[in-house]
Amino acid sequence: MPARAQMQYLSEELKQLEDKGLRFKLRVLEGEQLPVSVFDGRRVINLSSNNYLGLCTHPKLREAALDATRRLGVGSGAVRTISGTMELHMELEQLLARFKHTDATVVFQSGFTANSGTVGAIMGREDYIISDALNHASIIDGARLSRATIKVFPHKDCNAAEAILKELQPLPGRKLLITDGVFSMDGDIAPLPDLCALAEKYGAVMMVDDAHASGVLGRNGRGTVDHFNLHGRVDVQVGTLSKAVGALGGYVAGSADLIEFLHLRGRPFLFSTSHPPAVAATCIAAIQVLEEEPERIQRLWDNTRFFKDGLKTLGYDTGESETPITPIMVGEGRKAMEFSRALFQNGLFATAIAYPTVPEGKARLRTIVTATHTQEELGQALDILHQVGRAQGLI
Ligand code: PMP
Repeated sequence: MPARAQMQYLSEELKQLEDKGLRFKLRVLEGEQLPVSVFDGRRVINLSSNNYLGLCTHPKLREAALDATRRLGVGSGAVRTISGTMELHMELEQLLARFKHTDATVVFQSGFTANSGTVGAIMGREDYIISDALNHASIIDGARLSRATIKVFPHKDCNAAEAILKELQPLPGRKLLITDGVFSMDGDIAPLPDLCALAEKYGAVMMVDDAHASGVLGRNGRGTVDHFNLHGRVDVQVGTLSKAVGALGGYVAGSADLIEFLHLRGRPFLFSTSHPPAVAATCIAAIQVLEEEPERIQRLWDNTRFFKDGLKTLGYDTGESETPITPIMVGEGRKAMEFSRALFQNGLFATAIAYPTVPEGKARLRTIVTATHTQEELGQALDILHQVGRAQGLI
């Protein structure tokens, strides 16, 4: 159908993206999210999911979802603040508070809404948000929604963050120092101990988004605060239930007052329907699995080391990664897209990431190994990367 005149500009923008080699179609997963899955009719080694621990298909989680659905139906029927708070939601939040060693937690529909809803609620027009340059889009959106003044410091540069905090010190507004715990496109870890010290020195609220640390770093996957033993020093911790935890959702962990405030002012909590019972029950089962099956996290890290060593031996530049997220740096967006397409044709799914998700000229493939890949599968992935990388002149 031809575009109506007033919508023509979108077709033109798409054409521009196509000319830059940045237009792409969604890949469709046929069946389950597994280490080797079928996408678009092709069986490929899957290095593109956030299913770090293989929990998306864990039998205990599946059973919990089915049981909750049979007993309680498929929907919660309302937002949390009207009639959509079910016993399972409360049970999950209490479990998460014990898991995170905080007073309380509140679950949002996604990690995205946890970040955007929280930053948007706890900061206001008179305030300042001091934010790492590579923080996630949901933090950036929350900062914009808050209408606070946003000050961005270069990635992981604590001296630059301090210079901003010092300059702002005499001004009356509140200050929020905010960072991802693990950076989603680079896989490096935030300098959280130093950031906490800065927040304490300058009286700033300290917030960390642990989306990619949840289930990955810290004891049983408790996140970066546990990893660095900073309990009690981070005011606002966000975790996700959508990645290693295998289901869907995000949560905020902190003081009882913070959580109560978010009940009253967190806009996604107030204005969007709560999770279905199946999701809450799945997350409860997932936290239990994190406690009961620590060997999954061990396997994740063993696989991470094996794959990273293999990439380095092949001569790839893997940036600054310290976690299972391992970028393969390419540079130009078009080249990264072509590399990803060729790998896919040869049986390996590694997503290309280009501008605006990463800065221009820093396009890359983003790979994530999981606990459930076998070393044989990862060995095959390295063979494919060797052949295709050679053919494309990348190594
Ligand atoms: N924060 C970071 C750093 C992320 O990478 C993501 C997921 N892309 C999110 C938050 C959002 O999490 P969710 O998928 O649960 O909305």
